[in-house]
Amino acid sequence: MKLKNHLLISLPLSGAVYLLTRSVYSSLACFCMGVFIDLDHIFDYLLYSNFKFSIRGFFDTCNGYKLKKFYLVLHSYEILILSWALYLVSRNKILLGFNIGYTVHLLVDQFANYSKPLTYFFTFRLLNKFENVFEGRKLSPGFKNLKV
Ligand SMILES: [Zn+2]
Repeated sequence: MKLKNHLLISLPLSGAVYLLTRSVYSSLACFCMGVFIDLDHIFDYLLYSNFKFSIRGFFDTCNGYKLKKFYLVLHSYEILILSWALYLVSRNKILLGFNIGYTVHLLVDQFANYSKPLTYFFTFRLLNKFENVFEGRKLSPGFKNLKV
């Protein structure tokens, strides 16, 4: 999903987290995870472009599904599950906001991108050698109006 859409979702979500936790740090953690886990696309793009970075090239490549390999290390339900387990043990408010932002980000990507059901499991990507983990340009049901 595009950065703009993650921003539009993360702003009200982090506001709701603030109302829930009364913690600015929890709210900020939610916002950051809702938006900035997409920074892992930079690693994939750098590998694709032989470490030649340009902003335009980055967005054209990532939004156009031109990458050949999708490592997307932070886009992994395995990490999310571990993080929720850590929250259950610690009951830390910042970690709660972090996890809410992380969960919503992954779920939105799951349903708005051209992903396969298991795409956002790192294990699935690893078993597929990080290739062919997206469905190509087919639209996901319910998201036909989103420009991804
Ligand atoms: Zn994402």
